[in-house]
Amino acid sequence: MINIHKVSKWYGSFQVLSDCSTQIRKGEVVVVCGPSGSGKSTLIKCVNALESIQQGDIVVDGMSVTDPKINLNQLRSRVGMVFQHFELFPHLSITENLTLPQIRVLKRSESEARRKALGLLERVGLSAHAHKFPAQLSGGQQQRVAIARALAMDPIAMLFDEPTSALDPEMVNEVLDVMVQLARDGMTMMCVTHEMGFARKVAHRVIFMDRGVIVEDCDKESFFGSPHARSERAQQFLSKIL
Ligand code: ADP
Ligand code: MG
Repeated sequence: MINIHKVSKWYGSFQVLSDCSTQIRKGEVVVVCGPSGSGKSTLIKCVNALESIQQGDIVVDGMSVTDPKINLNQLRSRVGMVFQHFELFPHLSITENLTLPQIRVLKRSESEARRKALGLLERVGLSAHAHKFPAQLSGGQQQRVAIARALAMDPIAMLFDEPTSALDPEMVNEVLDVMVQLARDGMTMMCVTHEMGFARKVAHRVIFMDRGVIVEDCDKESFFGSPHARSERAQQFLSKIL
């Protein structure tokens, strides 16, 4: 579904990604972790072409981000992205946040978009808030709306960039629960997160990045199971967050 092949990227003369390769198969949940500044956000942004790459290629469901003829809107609507900060449209109601992109980008009718929106709000437990505005919701609720908004576009995969790290601790679980459910429903997911409980529960693989390099890329069992199999840097990192 997502093929990241020998990707390198520079910001000016600073190399932020070095020869990164990995594949994410349909239905697979991959957790990306690593120290701050290691290139996790950059890598995930390259997948839906919010950042360009200078070497290598990324192919998402047959669409190459380096293809000059690529339709970026199509790619971005096929790959849902949820950021650390919720980035809902503040002047639109929760329902409108979910319907507008469907109407604008997917050309759905108002009633079809509305039906989809209300179904998804129910799925993330927010039906009662459909008429409200983002500022009237808690951070955890807003992040669940952001997930529902991405799902409204019927994405083939979902990218998450530290979706819970800006939340108050008591709201982290309500967002993780939605992500766990999504994973169990078979969504293809690439999640930058340090929530290792989430990784243990639903991840198939864990990628550990350090200084722009994918240092570890292994199944969950070996990542958490055998310290000897892990690089020293990954061990040090894990000992700090576990
Ligand atoms: P992470 O998400 O792992 O914390 P990032 O991908 O955000 O790491 O950043 C990786 C490195 O690239 C950091 O050193 C950061 O300062 C640098 N960086 C990120 N975005 C930019 C940018 N737009 N211009 C220049 N440097 C950047
Ligand atoms: Mg980041």
